[in-house]
Formats: sequence, structure tokens, C-alpha cells
Amino acid sequence: MSKRRAFDTDVFIIGGGPAGLAAGIAARRQGLRVTVADGNKPPIDKPCGEGLMPDSLHAAAEIGIRIPESAGHPFRGIRFHGEPGQMVDASFPNGAGLGVRRPMLHELLVAQAAEAGVEMLWSTPVSGISHGQVELGNGSIRPRWIVGADGGTSRARRWAGLDTWAHRSQRWAWRQHFQVAPWTDCMEIYWGADCQIYVTPVAADEVCVALISRHQLLKVPDVLSRFPLLEEHLRDAVVSSRERGAITATARLRRVTKGNFALIGDASGSVDAITGEGLCLSFRHAALLATSLAAGDLSLYESAHPKLVLRPRMMAELMLTMDRWPLVRRRALSALSASTTTFERMLAMHVGALGLREMAAGGLTLGWHLLTS
Ligand SMILES: Cc1cc2nc3c(=O)[nH]c(=O)nc-3n(C[C@H](O)[C@H](O)[C@H](O)COP(=O)(O)OP(=O)(O)OC[C@H]3O[C@@H](n4cnc5c(N)ncnc54)[C@H](O)[C@@H]3O)c2cc1C
Repeated sequence: MSKRRAFDTDVFIIGGGPAGLAAGIAARRQGLRVTVADGNKPPIDKPCGEGLMPDSLHAAAEIGIRIPESAGHPFRGIRFHGEPGQMVDASFPNGAGLGVRRPMLHELLVAQAAEAGVEMLWSTPVSGISHGQVELGNGSIRPRWIVGADGGTSRARRWAGLDTWAHRSQRWAWRQHFQVAPWTDCMEIYWGADCQIYVTPVAADEVCVALISRHQLLKVPDVLSRFPLLEEHLRDAVVSSRERGAITATARLRRVTKGNFALIGDASGSVDAITGEGLCLSFRHAALLATSLAAGDLSLYESAHPKLVLRPRMMAELMLTMDRWPLVRRRALSALSASTTTFERMLAMHVGALGLREMAAGGLTLGWHLLTS
């Protein structure tokens, strides 16, 4: 009788982006042996708005991840720009956000994963999963648990047979950096007819500019003249990074676990980038998954996963409705500009400082303002 090979590690994570590394750190805190493999090598860059909301920073801190202010540039809240002269902003009720360049965030996470004792295999793409084994270029590993953290276009999701969507819609995004001192202490969102541009201060002399639209080829330079205020701010700024594009999806899977396999981060579903909540979700998934793995029960993760995305999804739907319907957008922006309190409440909902019941009440208030504006 052939003897079954013992597990090589407790947890094998496919993908060493923010979700994979955060899951590794959280699982190590539960005393599990962890290996992370990524096809790339650090620091890994990725098109991103690079804004960490206060709830993202709190979620990271809860699993012991430290993101010091010196890693980026703080912002106190969000500012919406609508029609010319139409502007509203509010501060977060639960601390400042932080703009952090993506390679810098990755470097921080890699260093803290190493400190936590996570084994990391870089330039090591995973090519498949079969019979409980993870296939690497140079052999295979048999882990107790397998985690798919390989991003929105996850192949691990397909290998595990979890590629069934309950809902999926997508938009296109392009991001670019400009060397200029941030003119704002907020993350700014400029609302246009068929796109949004959002600006995140990421250093004392740099901002990240991300354009999101339903048109794949629409890029920042194509639309800048539609936003004269922003165009003016960027007029003399030197472009400091290559323009990079990505798909941003609002997507929900039917299931995120199967047997000893679980999906986390964007691989497990996502919310539109305009929410700035992707990283927060990754950190929350990581914490929840580590608890479930330590309990030896993935059904805990399966049942709590949809609850984590409830609030960001509601905000994503609200913003996508504003994107889709010009009348709603105009009315919402004029209602919010007329009532800073409503915008403050909306922002508090957005970053999880208001409970679901208060969120519903806030939604009604906004609805009332929409009808009467
Ligand atoms: C334009 C844009 C703007 C955004 N702005 C923000 C924002 O401002 N704030 C915010 O919080 N979120 C934002 N997000 C969302 C955020 O970027 C994602 O939620 C986050 O990157 C998810 O992390 P992840 O680790 O799940 O996936 P990823 O960051 O995609 O990492 C996946 C990793 O898996 C690796 N990999 C893939 N396949 C394999 C394989 N077969 N074997 C081994 N490794 C593999 C990849 O190399 C990669 O390193 C934005 C997203 C977009 C597209």
C-alpha cells in the first residue's frame, strides 16, 4: 500500500499581492505554516488609485500590518467636483486616509510577511492544482489548505471550479502619476459625462490620477480638457509614470470555497475601483480566512464573506448609478453640494463609521434630497 505524503505546509497561497501577503501574515498569527508563491518579483506594481481609506488602515492594523504615514501622503477626506463651480467635501470621521504608491505598499507587506515567518517564492508562477497538490514549474507541493489570491483574472478560481458569477459588470481604468505638490488635502473625484477621474496625493511632490469609464480606450489626456480645474493643476506637472490600464469589476461569485480551497481578495469578487475599498476588503478577507483556517472550518469563511462586501457594494451601486444616469448624477451632486451634512453621512457610511441601520436612514435622506433638489 502506498503511504500518503504528509502535508508540506499548512497553507499555500497562490499570489503574493496585497490579499495573498495579508492572508499569509494573518495565518502566521494563528500559528500556521504559510507559503506564498507569485509569478512576479517584488516590488510588484499594479494600476491602482493608491488610496487607503481609514477603514483600510484599520483593517490592516487588525492583522498587525503597519502602514506608517511616512510611506505616503495623508488625506483628510473626499471631495467631489461636479459641474463647473459645483464642489463638496467632507472629512472622514474615523481618521485620515493615506495615499501610498503601490510598489511601496508591496515592499512594506513583503517585509512584514518575512518578519512574520511567511515563506515567499517569487518568480514562481503556479500552473495548476490537481489532487490536492499545487503545481509549480519545478515540482509540486501538497498543502493542507490552498488559497487563491491571484487577482481579478484568477486562474486558480477556474482550476477550483468556482468560476460561476452571481453578478459581474466591468469598467476600464487608466492610471498615471504626475510630479506636482498636492493642491488638496482630500482624495478628489471629478465627475464627468461618461467618466470619473480621481486624484490621490501619494507624496509631498506627487499625485496619482486614475480615469475610470465604460470605454476601454479613453485615457487621461483625452478627457483632461473637460475638467478645467484639474487641467490647470496639472498644467506644468511632469508625468512621472507610464500610463497603465486595468479592468475594474463589480463582481460577486456564487461560492468562494470548495473542499480545502478558498479564494480571497479580487479573486473572490470585487467592487468598482471608484469606491477605493478593494484593499480594505483584501485585509478583511485575510483576517476572516485566517480565523476559519485556524478553526479548520472553511464554512465560517464561506458564510461571512458576503457580509464583508455588503457595504462597499451598496456604495459601488450608488456611484455606478450616478455614472450611468446623467440626471441622477446632476441631482445627487447638487443635493450633496447643498447639504454638507448629507455628504458627511455618506462618507461615514462609506468608511464603515455608520451601521447598516443608519446607512438605510442615510440612504433615505439622500433619496429625499434627490427628489426635492
Ligand atoms: C484602476 C484601479 C484603481 C484602484 N484603486 C484602489 C484604491 O484607490 N484603493 C483601494 O483600496 N483599492 C483600489 N483598487 C483595488 C485594488 O487594487 C485591488 O482590490 C487589490 O489590488 C486586490 O489585491 P489582490 O492581492 O487580490 O490582487 P492583485 O493585486 O491583482 O495581486 C494578485 C497577485 O497574484 C499574482 N498571480 C497571478 N496569477 C498567478 C499565478 N498563476 N501564480 C502565482 N502568482 C500569480 C500576480 O502576480 C499578483 O501579484 C483599484 C483597482 C483598480 C483596477
